[in-house]
Amino acid sequence: MKKLIFVFLLLQFSGIKIIAQQPSTLEGKNILVVYGGWKGHQPEIFATKIADWLKTQHANVILSESTASYTDTELMDSLDLVIQHITMSKMSARESSGLSRAILNGVGLAGCHGGLGDSFRNDTEFQYMVGGQFVKHPGGQVDYQVTITEKEDEITKGIRDFNLHTEQYYMHFDPLIEVLATTRFSGEHDAWIEGVEIPVIWKKPYGKGRVFYSALGHSEDLFEVSEVWTLMTRGIEWATK
Ligand SMILES: [Zn+2]
Repeated sequence: MKKLIFVFLLLQFSGIKIIAQQPSTLEGKNILVVYGGWKGHQPEIFATKIADWLKTQHANVILSESTASYTDTELMDSLDLVIQHITMSKMSARESSGLSRAILNGVGLAGCHGGLGDSFRNDTEFQYMVGGQFVKHPGGQVDYQVTITEKEDEITKGIRDFNLHTEQYYMHFDPLIEVLATTRFSGEHDAWIEGVEIPVIWKKPYGKGRVFYSALGHSEDLFEVSEVWTLMTRGIEWATK
């Protein structure tokens, strides 16, 4: 007992506070991770990485390699969040309406890069739901800055502007989105877009559902950048019903 009191006092005097661990906001949440599409975006690696993290948050994770999951009404109604990582590819009208029905009814939707911002190019309802569509990354892999424009938001709080060497997404976007971070194009590769500012991180509603998007995530190493990972995981927490 004396030993315990000594340790406690030592911690108090050294300024280390004893804080009870907060339960994760994702604990017990039902999350569907659907992945596939263009292999260059390593959908399986992304899905596994996200699923592993969700499990540490005590969420119930269901991994699916097929958009056919979106037609499973019972499954979709049981969810709190859908995370999608499918670049390009196609889904049927039934799959598309299964997904949008669930989000309209309040299930969250989150994703990054081409996995949510460049899926199903011919599906305008999907783009209407996400709030933006990739159109080009001028110059391919380039150096650029991500500027946090909304510093007090729960997703961006404490994160400073940061630099990356990866694809800089030029996107068509919905004026409804709440932009949290942007990037400015230098014009080095397409001179006429010099100075154009494009959203990188946003959130938006779709019916009763919350939609979160990050343009960052071309390759696995990007998720080792603490700002990229923090924005992604906080976005997931925010979008979860
Ligand atoms: Zn990419």
